Amino acid sequence: MPQKRLTRIIDQVQTRLALLKEMGIAELPAEKVDPVYSALRKLREEMGDCRRCELGKTRTCIVFGEGDPKSELMFVGEAPGEDEDLSGKPFVGAAGRLLTDIIELGMKIPRRKVFIGNVLKCRPPENRDPLPEEVKECRVFLERQIGIIRPRVIVALGKHAAHLLMGGNDPISRLRGNWGEFQGIPVMPTYHPAYLLYNSSGKREVWNDIKQVLQFLEKENSR
Ligand code: SF4
Repeated sequence: MPQKRLTRIIDQVQTRLALLKEMGIAELPAEKVDPVYSALRKLREEMGDCRRCELGKTRTCIVFGEGDPKSELMFVGEAPGEDEDLSGKPFVGAAGRLLTDIIELGMKIPRRKVFIGNVLKCRPPENRDPLPEEVKECRVFLERQIGIIRPRVIVALGKHAAHLLMGGNDPISRLRGNWGEFQGIPVMPTYHPAYLLYNSSGKREVWNDIKQVLQFLEKENSR
């Protein structure tokens, strides 16, 4: 960047900070100044009251996703369920509590320190599977979220997230536990927590998959 332009930007920032100080504002929340926070906020604003697919007519809330946009770890599920549709937050029902336990009790990471999103941002009626046309319309939002956050690793929860991120059509029972990739980011597919509510035998497999993620992050962070 040319020196003159840089000096002008620094002057502008100093002027703004001085003004804020005069107004009694000593600190700015990260989301006001960090480009990752503001890019995510802008994406949400762009989505607005999205009606790109039919789910826009039946949902209560868009569930954009939540967590730390600077996290090295991102979880991607399928779609909001009833509790999520009503609250606007991802993974807050029974499956969500299980996911929270996996993150907080198993991985020893506060849930707020990871980012959690879904393939679809609106609830399919009666929690049916996402339709191909819905995924086609909505995937751009998830892809842009991932592009903004650029986590070190993504955990794909269930077949819909795994298929979107890794391609193919294999059952999750075959995919789980084997690393894939999305735009250069390692992806670990595993069972969706909702599946574990009715198939507790899958918990051990999920924990094995999660341990691989922890080992990967440990190795990355020790470099
Ligand atoms: S599911 Fe996605 S594409 Fe469809 S209305 Fe909701 S936000 Fe828009």
